[in-house]
Amino acid sequence: MKRIITAFIACMLLTCTAGAVDLYVDTNKVATDTPPAIVEGRTLVPVRAIFEAIGATVEWDNSTRTATGAKGGTIVSIQIDNTTAYVNGEARTLDVPAQLINNRTMVPARFISEAMGCDVTWYQNTQTAAVADKIKGQHIYVTKTGKRYHFSGTCNGGTYYEATLAEAMGRGLEPCDKCVLTIDNPAPPTSGTTPPAIEATQGQRNALNSAKNYLGIMAFSYDGLIKQLEFEKYTHDDAVYAADNCGADWNSQAAKKAKSYLEIMPFSYTGLIEQLEFDKFTHEQAVYGVDQCGADWNAQAAKKAKSYLDLMSFSRDRLIEQLEFDGYTHDQAVYGASQNGY
Ligand SMILES: [Zn+2]
Repeated sequence: MKRIITAFIACMLLTCTAGAVDLYVDTNKVATDTPPAIVEGRTLVPVRAIFEAIGATVEWDNSTRTATGAKGGTIVSIQIDNTTAYVNGEARTLDVPAQLINNRTMVPARFISEAMGCDVTWYQNTQTAAVADKIKGQHIYVTKTGKRYHFSGTCNGGTYYEATLAEAMGRGLEPCDKCVLTIDNPAPPTSGTTPPAIEATQGQRNALNSAKNYLGIMAFSYDGLIKQLEFEKYTHDDAVYAADNCGADWNSQAAKKAKSYLEIMPFSYTGLIEQLEFDKFTHEQAVYGVDQCGADWNAQAAKKAKSYLDLMSFSRDRLIEQLEFDGYTHDQAVYGASQNGY
């Protein structure tokens, strides 16, 4: 059966890559031993190639067939044939899962890139996918007949139209010498950010922008966010500025974080509060978050019991004791055990 499926996918691959797909990260073409493939409208690329091209480290767990990439503070886990992937522990649904094609692990390029904070564009004419990593936020301008692309729509006084990175790469355009230097000075964000009343420094603005990006991906506590920004080499003062001005409601962040933990594993009420406190939420915020997360603690106890029983055998008393140790009440522990036939 397995062989038949593999053969089928291989056929599909042949039809889909009739026109090969090119993948770029910034202006570099990503070299892959297996060509990118389009499956159900999604570009799939070899897992190691894409993670490494955007500067992430990648580990492969053969027992669970899971690839985990890490960059900065972001961790992305994706498992073969599983439409649920995780970004910093938060579940994300994929319409096309990672899969083996010609015996190579192929992952959706857009999902991985966006999860890692990059922008992705697609240019249909040349079947080019381009990931903007270091030049994220840069606008690209071209003419229909030009040989160069620009980062400024008014460079040389020309009349350009705004294009995508994928178009510029797909057409083989070269960067303009005059405006290319702006790569090192990314333009400040243009959409949705209102400048703070007191003029912020560039460092503060960048930290604030990063903070908002992080909060768009996952939940943070106030101190956790500062730590994350410091990890990204922002100064302590800039990180504090960003946490103070990012507009986050730390109570809702705690609730969001609690929910994301419950997506990965079962917790008891007190166990989850402790976990949130470990993530630097205050006790009050942690209690609020756990109260709001909507968990059924009996069901959590049953799930936890099952996860123990999957690992080893327990006597009834020993199982209940273990669950109580994890912070379940006696009644919840008894319920959890009984749901598993004890
Ligand atoms: Zn230019």
